[in-house]
Amino acid sequence: MRGPLVSLVMRGGPAAAFAVLLCLAAPAARAESPAAIPAVPPSGQWRGLHIKVPTHRSLQHTLRLCTDHLPALGVNILVVEVNYRYKWRSHPELSEGDLTFEDARKLTATCRAAGILVVPQFQCLGHQSWQRHRNALLARYPEFDESPDRPEGSIPARSWCPSHPGVKPLVFDLLDELVDAFQTPLLHVGLDEVQEIGRCSRCRGSSVSDLFSRTVVDLHDHLATRGVRMMMWADRLLDRKGGFGGFHDTSDSGTHLAIGSIPRDVVLCDWHYEPARSYASVPYLLGQGFQVWPSAWNSLAAARGMRDAGRKSNPSATLGMLYTCWSCGRGAPGLLRALLGKPDGSEFDKQAVEVLNLIRTLRREEKRRPNEVDG
Ligand SMILES: [Zn+2]
Repeated sequence: MRGPLVSLVMRGGPAAAFAVLLCLAAPAARAESPAAIPAVPPSGQWRGLHIKVPTHRSLQHTLRLCTDHLPALGVNILVVEVNYRYKWRSHPELSEGDLTFEDARKLTATCRAAGILVVPQFQCLGHQSWQRHRNALLARYPEFDESPDRPEGSIPARSWCPSHPGVKPLVFDLLDELVDAFQTPLLHVGLDEVQEIGRCSRCRGSSVSDLFSRTVVDLHDHLATRGVRMMMWADRLLDRKGGFGGFHDTSDSGTHLAIGSIPRDVVLCDWHYEPARSYASVPYLLGQGFQVWPSAWNSLAAARGMRDAGRKSNPSATLGMLYTCWSCGRGAPGLLRALLGKPDGSEFDKQAVEVLNLIRTLRREEKRRPNEVDG
C-alpha cells in the first residue's frame, strides 16, 4: 500500500454505523470538551483523502490545502499517515519527524472548522523498513525485528515481531499520543502488505493467522479503551486464490484465515489500484459483516468498480471512497500545486493531477446520481 512499494511495482499499470461511531467515541469525548468531538460523516458519505504527514515547516501548506481546496472537492475526512514522523513525548528516541503536538492540534482544529475530520494513521506490524532503511522502531530496537536473519536490503519491508513482549506497550504509548494530539474518534493502523510474519524463533510454530488476528484484536481492544474506532487496510484478509486481486492487494501467507476473529466494528479499507473485471473483495468483506471503505489511487476504472460493487451489494455498509495520494509529497504539496494549476512537470505532480481528476469526476457523478451504479 505504501507509495514507494506500490509505485515501484505498479507504475505503468498503475499501485448505520453513525450511531455506533458516536457511541464508540463517547469515552474519549468525556475526556475533552464537547466542542472537541469531530463529526463523523454518515455511512455512504465518507469522502476521504489519504496523505503523508507534513513536516512542521510544511504544515502551513497542508492547512491551506484543507481550508482553501478540500471542502470544494467534497473531502470530509483527511487520513494523515504519521508513522514515526512526529515528535513523540513518550518515546523521543522514535521521532523521525518534527511535527509537534501543537501542530497536530492546529491541523485538527483547522480541518474541523473546514468540516473535515482528521484521522491519524500509524503503520502497524509491517512496513517497518523500506529496503535498507529501517524505521525508527527497528533502528532503535533491532530485537523487535521479525526477520533478524534476513540481510539488509534483501526484503522490501520488515515487520515487528507480534510475539515480542516489548512491542505492544511501546506502540500503545504512541497510539495514545496520536489519539490525544488529533482528538480522534477514528485511527488507521495500516497492517497492509505484511510479508514477514511467523519467521522468528518466538513466532515459529504459531499459525500465521493467529499471529495476525492477535495483533489486530490487541490493537482494536486498546483503541476501544480510548473510545476510538479502528480502521485498517484489508489486503491481508483477502485470499490470493479467491480472485480478489494480485500480489500486493491480497495475501498468500494464511493471514486471510484470521478474518473470522476480526472485530466487526473495524473499518476495512479495501484498496485496489488497477482496473479489473470485478471487485469481488468488496461484496465479500461486506458479506462478512464489515463496513467497507473502498480505497482508490489514480485509476478511475478501479474507483468506479469498487464504488458500484459496494452499492450493489450493501450500500448502507459501503462508507464512501478513500483517495490515496502516495506520490503527492509530505502534506501533499503536489496536490496543492495541481489545485493551483501549477504542477511542476515532475512525475509526482502528474500523478497528483490524476488523483485530483479522479476525485472531481467521482464527485460530479455522486452529485448527479448519488445512489446509482454504472452498467
Ligand atoms: Zn516473531
